[in-house]
Amino acid sequence: MSMTEQQATQRVAELHQTLNRYNYQYYVLDEPTVPDAEYDRLMRELVELETAFPLLKMPDSPSQRVGGEALKAFSQVTHQIPMLSLDNVFGYDEWLAFVKRVQDRLKSDREIAFCAEPKLDGLAVSLRYEDGLLVQAATRGDGTTGENITENVKTIKSVPLRLNGDNIPAVIEVRGEVFMPKASFEQLNAQAIQKGEKTFANPRNAAAGSLRQLDSKITAKRSLAFYAYGLGYVEVQGQEADEWLSNSHFGRLEQLKTLGFPMCPEVKLLEKSADVEAFYQDILAKRDALSYEIDGTVFKVDSIELQQQLGFVARAPRWATAYKFPAQEEITILEDVEFQV
Ligand code: NAD
Repeated sequence: MSMTEQQATQRVAELHQTLNRYNYQYYVLDEPTVPDAEYDRLMRELVELETAFPLLKMPDSPSQRVGGEALKAFSQVTHQIPMLSLDNVFGYDEWLAFVKRVQDRLKSDREIAFCAEPKLDGLAVSLRYEDGLLVQAATRGDGTTGENITENVKTIKSVPLRLNGDNIPAVIEVRGEVFMPKASFEQLNAQAIQKGEKTFANPRNAAAGSLRQLDSKITAKRSLAFYAYGLGYVEVQGQEADEWLSNSHFGRLEQLKTLGFPMCPEVKLLEKSADVEAFYQDILAKRDALSYEIDGTVFKVDSIELQQQLGFVARAPRWATAYKFPAQEEITILEDVEFQV
């Protein structure tokens, strides 16, 4: 049924209000009250209405924003290079449409290589190293301003406090995901039940709640882990950073490995865009056996030159997309009291 502009205006206002509330509960309080699938459905509805009625697309729409506001209890960090979110596709047809958009924008139908990665279900952090030493760690926050969580991140054993090797850049910001392995999450919730305390809805919220603690001793008691998946600002002495860095995203991840960063072992370089479906199916089949939670796969145009040509939109790069798994959370809503509002 098609809507009149007046009906659409009213529905868009309702969606803004609801999604802003869910964002606050999820990003600021680390306490979602609805499953992700429900949030994703409402966000899709909003994007469809904004596409059908472009005048209703406001600059402060939840569809244009990254994450939530940084908690004032932490000192604030301004990201030198913004930390964006990811657009997503559901299904192979949407994937093909994404590839077509990329090729159209590049005005080329040449085959594109993609870096294929699992979509880790934790929270994004940016780690800043100066002369090889970890000096600052920050959450993504609203993409521009994040929370200073340096002391908490230092308690994560897989995060290097000092970089390996002699060829170390003067400044390097490494981006990646802090997550809670499934076994640690189950143990944490079992302990909470024993003590009659509140449980966490899922490993993502447990990771976020554990990392955004004012007392780093509490963070230290939670088993968190980290995988690197990208870079922010880089400065190399006597050399352009671009010359020091590989011109392939996958190559850059290899460089990060050499510096001492842990990398998700499932990451692969795919020469052809048609190879993504096999990667997606393979990871989906492995999902339950993995020791950490994932909610899909991520595909990034591998060439940095092409990434730069493609650029960004308001909240996400044009050169990457998440290819998400079908929702599992529908089941959670029946089983998990956390989701009862
Ligand atoms: P997102 O999860 O859709 O995608 C971006 C994030 O993916 C990055 O910030 C990063 O943290 C993560 N990521 C994991 N693996 C990655 C990799 N290999 N490379 C790059 N990034 C990787 O991001 P978002 O904007 O934080 O959240 C939107 C999603 O969060 C929604 O789709 C919804 O599922 C959920 N959400 C739920 C509620 C709720 O109330 N239940 C509220 C808000 C958001």
